[in-house]
This record gives sequence, C-alpha cells and structure tokens, in this order.
Amino acid sequence: MMSHKKFLIGTCLLLSSPVMAKTWATVSNPTQAQPRVIGKPNSGCIAGAQALPLQGEGYLVVHLERHRHYGHPSLIQALQTLAKQAQQQAINPLQIGDLGQARGGPLPFGHRSHQTGLDADVWFNLDPNSYANANAQRSNIHQPTMLTIDKPGLDKNRWTQQHTLVLKLTAQLPEVDRVFVNPYIKKELCDSAGEERDWLRKIRPWFYHDDHFHLRLHCPPDSPDCEKQAAIPAGDGCGAELISWFEKAPIVKHTPSPPHPVMPKACADVLSAP
Ligand SMILES: [Zn+2]
Repeated sequence: MMSHKKFLIGTCLLLSSPVMAKTWATVSNPTQAQPRVIGKPNSGCIAGAQALPLQGEGYLVVHLERHRHYGHPSLIQALQTLAKQAQQQAINPLQIGDLGQARGGPLPFGHRSHQTGLDADVWFNLDPNSYANANAQRSNIHQPTMLTIDKPGLDKNRWTQQHTLVLKLTAQLPEVDRVFVNPYIKKELCDSAGEERDWLRKIRPWFYHDDHFHLRLHCPPDSPDCEKQAAIPAGDGCGAELISWFEKAPIVKHTPSPPHPVMPKACADVLSAP
C-alpha cells in the first residue's frame, strides 16, 4: 500500500510540473558553439547561429513574433551588406522576412527550407508608408504581389527599376549561391537586362515568390557537414528553361511536396545543447 501511495504522489508531482520538451520551433537561443551548418536547406540545422539586429542601416526585420531572424554569420553579414548597398543606391529600406530559427531545423509553417541558417526572404514591398502604422511586431504590413491579378503577368505599375537593382545587388554578392523569384519576375529581368547578364544566372525561377524573393548562400567554409546543392546550369537562364515555366500552369501553385527527409543525426546534439 505504502509504495502504491508513493507512486501516486510521484505521478501527481510529475503531472503538475511537466518538463517541456525542446523543439526546433520553441528553443529560443542559439547554441554557444562555433558556427556550423549541418545538412541541407530542407533538412538540417545550425550551431552557433547569430541574430540579425531587428533594425539596421537600410533595413528592418518584419514579423518579429516568428523569431526567425537567426542565421549563419555569413548570412547576417550578407543581408547587412545588401541593405547598405541598397541604401547607397537611394533605395528605401528593405523589409526582411524569415531567416531561420535559433538553431535552424524544420519550421512549423511557411517553408520547407530555411533550416540551416543560409536562407532569407526579402519582401518586394519598398514603400516606407506601408509600415508607418505597423504594430510592435511589424506583423500587420500588407505585402502586395508583383503580379497582375486579372491576367498572368508582371504588374508594371508596381515593378520598378529599384526592384531590379535590389535583385542585381543580391545576385552579385559572392556568398550568394542562388536567388528564387517568380518566373514572371525572372522574365522581366531577362527582358530588361542589357549586355551585363552574368548576374542573371543566379536568379532562379520558382513557384510563388511574387511578393518576396528568397536568397540562399553557399555552404560556408567552416561547415564540412553542410550539403552543397547541385550547381546552377551555365548561362543566364533566360532561354528554354525559363520558357518551360510558362508551359506549366498555374505558376503560383505548388505540386504536392514529398515527405520531409530525415534530419542529420548531428542535429540531435544541436537541439539538446544548453
Ligand atoms: Zn524563403
């Protein structure tokens, strides 16, 4: 009887003070380790991530409630450089959206990638009036599409030279591996670029990405466990590959995603670290 009673008391104590399991989405601090990317964009994590300051020269982070402003130091540096360069070109502040979680890993909503601290989204919205009345979390800012609503195509009333220039500056950063935009945006860049076309190669057409672009960095040299992506095809990507996108319909819809790949084993240690 005594031992049964003890068991009951013990159980009640356990139930009344549950130990919350750490998850990728809830762990709020990066590990105190040397920066190290493990795995690949849709299955991986990062040790020793840095936080992007929530506001800086030429940019502000939006959707602060998501706590997705962490990345490899090279990503933080690249975004700060991009924002400064844009500011020097008299471009209004960039609104920076999701990077990754404090230790990377799968995100509960919104993305398959962004898991290794090498990916970031930047909104195409360059209008400072759009956040004049933003709430404290900057979560209520309207982010308009750059596509026409009534027929397929780019909305030339919204798209400006500044958008083109931001994408060119992004693609020209040496640490940037590729940049994802909607196929109609890639087409505009292809049509408007003159002789200087090398930077177009890194601009990759992809589903959605009509209200923001997504930049992804190369695996950094400090991260031997970072899985490199397949190389981008040679050329400016304005030919048959781009045309093939317009034969798929509709361009803003995704095909069903395959199941999530298995996380690298080393990520378990990153998640459980203090
Ligand atoms: Zn993204």
